[in-house]
Amino acid sequence: MTIAEAAVDSPGTDADARVISHWIDGAEHPSSSGRTSPVYNPATGAVSAYVALADEAEIAAAISSAARGYEVWSGYSIARRQGVLFAFRELLNSRKGELAEIITAEHGKVVSDAMGEILRGQEVVELATGFPHLIKGAFTENASTGVDVYTLKQPLGVVGIISPFNFPAMVPMWFFPIAIAAGNAVVLKPSEKDPSAALWMAQLWKEAGLPDGVFTVLQGDKLAVDGLLTSPDVASISFVGSTPIAQYIYETASHHGKRVQALGGAKNHMLVLPDADLDLVADQAVNAGYGAAGERCMAISVVLAVEPVADELIEKITERIGRLRIGNGAGADGVEPDMGPLITGVHRDKVSSYVDIAEADGAKIVVDGRGFTVAGLEDGFFFGPTLIDEIPTTSRAYQEEIFGPVLSVVRVASYDEGLELINSGQFGNGTAIFTNDGGAARRFQNEVQVGMIGINVPIPVPVAYHSFGGWKQSLFGDAKAYGVHGFDFFTREKAVTSRWLDPATRGLSAQRGINL
Ligand code: NAD
Repeated sequence: MTIAEAAVDSPGTDADARVISHWIDGAEHPSSSGRTSPVYNPATGAVSAYVALADEAEIAAAISSAARGYEVWSGYSIARRQGVLFAFRELLNSRKGELAEIITAEHGKVVSDAMGEILRGQEVVELATGFPHLIKGAFTENASTGVDVYTLKQPLGVVGIISPFNFPAMVPMWFFPIAIAAGNAVVLKPSEKDPSAALWMAQLWKEAGLPDGVFTVLQGDKLAVDGLLTSPDVASISFVGSTPIAQYIYETASHHGKRVQALGGAKNHMLVLPDADLDLVADQAVNAGYGAAGERCMAISVVLAVEPVADELIEKITERIGRLRIGNGAGADGVEPDMGPLITGVHRDKVSSYVDIAEADGAKIVVDGRGFTVAGLEDGFFFGPTLIDEIPTTSRAYQEEIFGPVLSVVRVASYDEGLELINSGQFGNGTAIFTNDGGAARRFQNEVQVGMIGINVPIPVPVAYHSFGGWKQSLFGDAKAYGVHGFDFFTREKAVTSRWLDPATRGLSAQRGINL
């Protein structure tokens, strides 16, 4: 059975569940740690598999295999490396449907959304195929008489990637195509909640001709993460996840002398000015708030409505929520719903508790998704789209990341009041302004303290040749993901100052009496 078949044909009972293994030395590597964690099909609530949680010996085996892989791969010519990247891109492009099904089976998002995340990841693979241009150094001829100065961009060695559950394919692909193109070997520690996508991608690299050890998958929990953070044989850490863990990763890995980029959580606001097209705003708010059940770091979770538009906007959003179809992300009878379940029952309950908090703090629950079920999938981890009005900005439900299909509306009197709310928050990942006033939008892009800004675009994820990253508690370290930042992160520069004397005068050849 292939990795794809195994992930999608989830067994019905716990007793049948298989164990998802590591990928070490170019092959699946069964675990003997005796520790596992359940992996669910979120639409049914059934355990579909158990994922291995690495022990110390497995962590060491993964890192040393990667170190051997690095020795081989970093010696490949640029042209040969490029051939492997192109092969990977072609395989991914032709077989991405398999990967999308795996993502839906373990994450729960609808298949078209899973396909969307793969396409965004594939963009980075495509960028990485052009790596020779991005890792070539600079050259200055005759900086001083007879002296040339040039830079070399060399790989770091073994690099660690630690990824979150919400984009099991795209987030690893923000990093590994560039890391591998630049000559590094990767150890990927995927989320234990949806670990199969990483294994599938490892198999694809193998088919593309990547030498064994250059792409390793280490399944696990905090023990595996800490193993990567503290190993002297791991040169850098690229992390994406929640803010408290991002901060821990940044501090621990830096303490161990590593280069670190650690992307954290978010609370993204959409500022709606009174001149905006409210039908467009309502469409975008619904897509950006409830798409992927709100489990996106760039999801919109707060609408700042500059009065007098709030009542009309809430009516339009409510009407659109009523049309949303919620169900199994894999679809039923050939029809795909708009929104799938949340990742686990525990997470669903946490989302629900935030709505309780908002209510207790005096907010108005306009559409209530608590207790929502889908007929025939009563054990699935569903939560209905929720709309909250008049949420106090002192409420934890306003201030903290909920990471579910919960959209809150805050009514503000002016652009300045809205801007002040955005800028006073702890996060600075993404934001959007909706207006027809170019001058206001221009002022917003200048004044807002956020890393990624949309102007009439609700989810402004930059294309692969720009870079992705937030400000404040949304990014620790100064290196964003992919784009030029990615190539800078995964290479280190040497500056060479060289002097070759002219053989016609005082060069070595002249001293030995050789005539040129
Ligand atoms: P998470 O922080 O719980 O887990 C992320 C990774 O860290 C996983 O691989 C997990 O195994 C590991 N981990 C968890 N607890 C740990 C601990 N105590 N010590 C060491 N490692 C630990 O995040 P998640 O729930 O998987 O993902 C959702 C979060 O990720 C949200 O906060 C979301 O905003 C964020 N996110 C941010 C971005 C971004 O670009 N800024 C993108 C995607 C997701």
